Amino acid sequence: MSVLETAGAMRSWSLEQRTAGRSVGFVPTMGALHEGHASLIRGSVADCDVTVISIFVNPAQFGPNEDYERYPRTFEADKGMAEDLGVDAIYAPDARAMYPADYATYVDVLGPLTERLCGRSRPGHFRGVTTVVAKLFNAVQPHRAYFGQKDAQQLAVIRRMTRDLDFGIEIVELPIVREADGLARSSRNQYLTPEERERALCIPRALEKGRALLANGERAAETVRQAVRDALAEVDAIDYVELVDAETLEPLAEIRPPALLAVAARVGETRLIDNIKLEAT
Ligand code: AMP
Repeated sequence: MSVLETAGAMRSWSLEQRTAGRSVGFVPTMGALHEGHASLIRGSVADCDVTVISIFVNPAQFGPNEDYERYPRTFEADKGMAEDLGVDAIYAPDARAMYPADYATYVDVLGPLTERLCGRSRPGHFRGVTTVVAKLFNAVQPHRAYFGQKDAQQLAVIRRMTRDLDFGIEIVELPIVREADGLARSSRNQYLTPEERERALCIPRALEKGRALLANGERAAETVRQAVRDALAEVDAIDYVELVDAETLEPLAEIRPPALLAVAARVGETRLIDNIKLEAT
């Protein structure tokens, strides 16, 4: 397994693979790898001839009062896990090389896709995400890139950027991986105290309650949202509970699939997100 630290070295490695006729799969991550990342990596290893993952905690997507400094950095463990899963290369660029002092270029998907949901409480977050993903795509030059439904809004934004900027990369979406008790896997779960973690379980339970209401024929978004809010009684603050069209993220008054029921809430100091997709049956 190769570890590449500069965009130039990454691009040369990738060009060599492409010239040899191999398909390149790519899984962007911020490290602190867990089963959610592993499922994306397995997907890429199964579909593509070679798999690259990036490990980069992207300062541009963190707000001034967010957890950039504190974000878990576990490179040696991540490397071992990547190797075991059959990753061929890790791209781990340096933050100062990615964003030199005179860095001046940003990619911004405008409009409702980035303004709603997490966009409201995390101004500039998606601009940071699209900028870094564009840079990573340029360095890695993959045929396919794998993203988790865990970050459903991020996925919708990246799909739009990829289409709008003609990257010619296939975006592959894989489902949310959960702990045995239902909590969505996240690198941020390690911030939770045992007591907070227990309370955080009301998030997946609230989403399940929403799903059950829909299964019973409820179609009024407001009724479902209110029931989900009520079921979130154990969190410390609700950022949002939204029912939106899964592609456009436009709010729905009447629920029609494919819809997304998405939640962001704070437990202790930790902001958690989760969602379920309501597919057409
Ligand atoms: P991150 O390292 O948190 O930036 O996440 C990297 C990728 O892993 C993103 O595409 C996430 O959506 C995906 N991911 C994170 N957690 C999960 C999960 N529990 N299930 C599926 N994918 C996930």
